[in-house]
Amino acid sequence: MQLKHKIPGIIPTPEEMERRLQEAKDRRDASWSRLCEKEKELKVIDFHVHTFPEKIAARALEQLSHDSGSRPFTDGTVKELRQSMKEAGVDLSVVLPVVTNPAKVAHINLSAAEQNEHVDETGVLSFAGIHPAAENYRVLLKQAKELGFRGIKLHPDYYGISFDDPRTMRIIDCASELDMIVITHAGTDIGLYPPVCCTVDSIVRVMDTVAPPKLVAAHMGGWNNWDEVLTKLAGRPLWVDTAFSIGEIEWLSPEAEKYGFHQLADEDFIRLVRAMGTDRVLFASDSPWAEQKDYVNRISALPFTEEEKEQIFAGNAKRLLGIDPKQEKS
Ligand SMILES: [Zn+2]
Repeated sequence: MQLKHKIPGIIPTPEEMERRLQEAKDRRDASWSRLCEKEKELKVIDFHVHTFPEKIAARALEQLSHDSGSRPFTDGTVKELRQSMKEAGVDLSVVLPVVTNPAKVAHINLSAAEQNEHVDETGVLSFAGIHPAAENYRVLLKQAKELGFRGIKLHPDYYGISFDDPRTMRIIDCASELDMIVITHAGTDIGLYPPVCCTVDSIVRVMDTVAPPKLVAAHMGGWNNWDEVLTKLAGRPLWVDTAFSIGEIEWLSPEAEKYGFHQLADEDFIRLVRAMGTDRVLFASDSPWAEQKDYVNRISALPFTEEEKEQIFAGNAKRLLGIDPKQEKS
């Protein structure tokens, strides 16, 4: 088929495109600056949540819920996330996009960047998605940096590609060179078990090989792999988040329990936090797969000092995201 007529005004000229991109960048930068200005008001930052576009949220949640056998606490939309944040007293949530198709990375990141134009009003900050099978990963990561993303999310189990696979390592290396945070799902995925694509050993190998300065291993370093986290990762320079690691799992079906999965008991959670260092732990829920309010209440009630709670709930995240101007200079 041949396009015979150019439709005036619909296809922008390169100059017009350039202008629009610059305007979007200005809006993002201005919104980020306004967020940084109210840094002191950010008392609770949830470093690990998921949302889905309104059109596909219901279908996506139904599928994921079926696979994992556990129930979601919101409908998966930004709207219900914001409602949940209000109820829980969460001031900023970091959305982690899981991209399962390399061809969709650019598109997903473009719409996530649009969300970030309003971060100071919504309190919803999206990271970029990526896929290790994307051959154009350098271009995609550079674009993500230009779009102002503070970090990227990896989910080795959804890719079926190990965390220490050369394709993943080159992404971690490239993102680190661009001074971006790399957050990865770690340990067993409740919906995809087995095999585990981000084991504790693979994290150790990546740290020894690539040494990413801003690495976050989700779910307290490796879901249901916590004995190994304690012996192999404690004391190493990485961050862990608290997403979906304590409390009860709300199983939808009794069969799901047969794997023997469990969350950390309070005393084991405290021990692991202390072993990793209270300056290395980021408060996170994994909403919609856990309830933000429940996580805030649960962790607040644990016997940490006020100073330690400040670090876990906001201080460490601000430092890592570069929100805290004092820390960024040092
Ligand atoms: Zn998650």
